[in-house]
Amino acid sequence: MSATDQTQMTALAQASSAAHPVPDRGHVNNYTEDKELQQLLALYLPADLYAHLQPYFERMGELAGGAVDDWALEADRNPPTLEMRSRSGKEVQRIVKHPAYVEMEKVAYQQFGLAAISHRDDMLGWKGKMPAIVKYALTYLFVQSEFGLCCPLSMTDSLTRTLKKYGEEKLVAKYLPTLLAMDFDSAVQGSMFMTEQAAGSDISNTLTMAYPQEDGSWRLYGEKWFCSNPDAGFGMVLARVEGGPPGMKGISLFLLPRTLDDGSTNHYTIVRLKDKMGTRSMASGEIRMEGAVAYLVGEQGRGFVQIADMVNNSRLSNGMRSAGMMRRAVAEAEFIARERWAFGKQLQDMPLMKVQLDKLRVPAEQARTMVFQTAAALTRSDAGEGNAYALLRILTPLIKFRACRDARKVTGDAMEVRGGCGYIEEWADPRLVRDAHLGSIWEGTSNIVALDVKRAIKREGSLPVLQDYLHGLLKDTQGITAAYRQALTNALAGAVQLAERAVQDDGEKLVRQAATALYNCTTAIAMAWEACKTGSQERLRLSQLVIAHRVLPRDPLNEGGVPAEWVS
Ligand SMILES: Cc1cc2nc3c(=O)[nH]c(=O)nc-3n(C[C@H](O)[C@H](O)[C@H](O)COP(=O)(O)OP(=O)(O)OC[C@H]3O[C@@H](n4cnc5c(N)ncnc54)[C@H](O)[C@@H]3O)c2cc1C
Repeated sequence: MSATDQTQMTALAQASSAAHPVPDRGHVNNYTEDKELQQLLALYLPADLYAHLQPYFERMGELAGGAVDDWALEADRNPPTLEMRSRSGKEVQRIVKHPAYVEMEKVAYQQFGLAAISHRDDMLGWKGKMPAIVKYALTYLFVQSEFGLCCPLSMTDSLTRTLKKYGEEKLVAKYLPTLLAMDFDSAVQGSMFMTEQAAGSDISNTLTMAYPQEDGSWRLYGEKWFCSNPDAGFGMVLARVEGGPPGMKGISLFLLPRTLDDGSTNHYTIVRLKDKMGTRSMASGEIRMEGAVAYLVGEQGRGFVQIADMVNNSRLSNGMRSAGMMRRAVAEAEFIARERWAFGKQLQDMPLMKVQLDKLRVPAEQARTMVFQTAAALTRSDAGEGNAYALLRILTPLIKFRACRDARKVTGDAMEVRGGCGYIEEWADPRLVRDAHLGSIWEGTSNIVALDVKRAIKREGSLPVLQDYLHGLLKDTQGITAAYRQALTNALAGAVQLAERAVQDDGEKLVRQAATALYNCTTAIAMAWEACKTGSQERLRLSQLVIAHRVLPRDPLNEGGVPAEWVS
């Protein structure tokens, strides 16, 4: 081939690849492009509040699907570092966050006040308290781009809640204003220091010691092994009071300020930062307390019970975050399936791809429904409504357990839909996969959270409450066939029976299976109810797929699918 021919061929090849670039979803508005979310918000929120919040959802959708997504990629590539000294040689510890991370903090904390929204009644131009769904829906949009930052965000929100609930009036009056400040430079964040080397799932092994001081404060000595947001303004810390009983009853809860009243840094050192698989934008480290000043929160010896409220709040937030990450994964996969062609066809028209897309959509929509249901139960429970607390106590570990596990698979399988590019770090897929794996580990591993479902059933009597609640939803669901109604009723009865068996003395090995069954039945019924209220046939179809594919037995040698009598 002559040199001229070669140049022409190269030009042709370049023109051809430029004409067929790999599809890139680029910047999108996470809110306006998500019709199902809009329908659900209209269903779950009072009409006037929903109308008022439209511009806020749109703005968050635009930011999250645009600038935040760019910042998230940047911050993930540039994790925070720990500075041990100032440039003049002063022993000042500082976590240096990448500017992209700080920009995201401004959106979350300042522009939308996501950490303060549940504790103030003047947020987003609205007079009065807003239901928890607002906070979770806005964060659901945000987390589709940035997961790491949502941990400090949730800890700040949860710490504030716990402080208000159990803290002495004087302590609350002193510290609450900085936690609720909307001015970015004066607002502080929260953290939670529970885990020690010997005390992870089993908190009763806590070794950190607390010694009372004459002025009413305490001094803490010990190490905490996993501390996300370790330089936060305040940490909630578990420690053992000298002379107290062994085990869980000897553990108390303390508020640990980063800065003391005289402006000096409190006596604890950030020993190092962890080199993490995911949440790389956000700092997690280890701390050593050497006489750190702290304040008792609530009753001595009830530390674990009190921090459980904070942990449960974080668990719900974790479930919501997994739902958000799954939504992002599905939206990316649907986009690729529409825009990418192979063998002369769009991917979305290929029979195998259709099945794979549904396998992604089903768990993603289940989790989304569960977020709305659990957040609504939280609002009712905080308002002191009847059985709402017992309902919340079981829905929370159910969403944390199942949605976080599902997010691992959904993000991984969505990555495959993008083909080879899905494995390349300049796309969102690898970050989603890395981040999604953490949801099942922190704030209680899958086993521990499944065991909490058992605790809710045994201690709070949550099972009949859940069953009654779901029967109520079913009763309020019109427009489904009698056969499908019966299938939902039978499935729920089966899941309840399994859960009853799992909480018996010899049933522990069934706890995860029972939690999965309860989650699947809860979501299938709630999705059918939502479908009837919003008129979404797609939601009803997905509800039926939950029962057909995730609840009922399937013969691997036969074609699956939804029974015809459920549909018409
Ligand atoms: C990135 C990251 C950030 C974190 N940030 C924080 C933080 O800010 N604050 C904080 O306090 N902690 C934090 N953690 C700690 C986290 O919450 C713990 O790692 C988690 O609770 C598990 O504890 P562990 O690591 O000691 O594991 P272990 O408790 O040793 O568990 C090991 C395994 O044993 C299983 N297991 C334990 N008990 C049972 C049982 N009864 N039945 C069946 N199986 C069981 C667990 O499921 C797990 O699979 C963080 C962790 C990570 C990875």
